[in-house]
Amino acid sequence: MSTAGLNRLGLKRKDEAWLHEALSSPTTRFVPLCNGKVCVAGPPASTVLLETGTWEDVWLLGEAEGTTYVAVEIDEDTWAELPVPEGARLASLREVATLLPPLESNMLALAAGLSAWHRTNQFCGTCGAPTRPEAAGHVRRCTGCAKEHFPRTDPAIIVLVTDGDRCLLARGPQWPVRFASALAGFVEPGESLEDAVAREVFEEVGIVVDEVEYQSSQPWPFPASVMLAFRATAATTEITMDPTEIADAQWYSREDVADGIVNLPGSVSIARRLIDDWIAEGS
Ligand SMILES: [Zn+2]
Repeated sequence: MSTAGLNRLGLKRKDEAWLHEALSSPTTRFVPLCNGKVCVAGPPASTVLLETGTWEDVWLLGEAEGTTYVAVEIDEDTWAELPVPEGARLASLREVATLLPPLESNMLALAAGLSAWHRTNQFCGTCGAPTRPEAAGHVRRCTGCAKEHFPRTDPAIIVLVTDGDRCLLARGPQWPVRFASALAGFVEPGESLEDAVAREVFEEVGIVVDEVEYQSSQPWPFPASVMLAFRATAATTEITMDPTEIADAQWYSREDVADGIVNLPGSVSIARRLIDDWIAEGS
């Protein structure tokens, strides 16, 4: 879902003349969303795109390869009547994100994120009056106090803790048996990312870390996060699990992880990239 060639056209969002032209252009494509679900056809999975029409609640997504893309919120009755390809269906983004081409996955992450934000920000958190969309769907303004509200993204950290030639992997209480991944959690107010890494690791498995090092990031729009990946070195190694967060946590040798002693997250996840990069360093 990361960088995939979508120009988000941030400077066009308040350009009413440009927007009017884009919405009536025969080359613009509309990306439908229905009750928080995205619309896909296939396999192979592809995003259902609609041709220009008259729509309310449209949000500018951006431009890619000469085509302007706009998200449009539709209801189930409209969906049932749309001229969509055979086999087209409504699906959660989480279900299809890894099946779609990168550009479509990136675009739907923005569309679904905006959709969820619009649905849950109908009223002003300051004065309680209704809000209305502006800036091609990227701002909501309060009709009472005029405050502008922007889509939020909640930072979360994910960290691979290592101790020499072994790493710590854990399984959450709801996860399948034999599945294991890196530790993760949300950043709290007033906390640096490095402090969040150290706190989450200590809370979940009782280990003190040092040498916290940033690796990379990945959008995580389920519904509104960005995942920031770190590597950290263990200063202590005795595991004390928090049973509400962790069902199992163990140190695994590089060889055992490479041999598949546990089932790892899917290949497009940032957790898997953290683990694969660490395995590759040992070969
Ligand atoms: Zn207000």
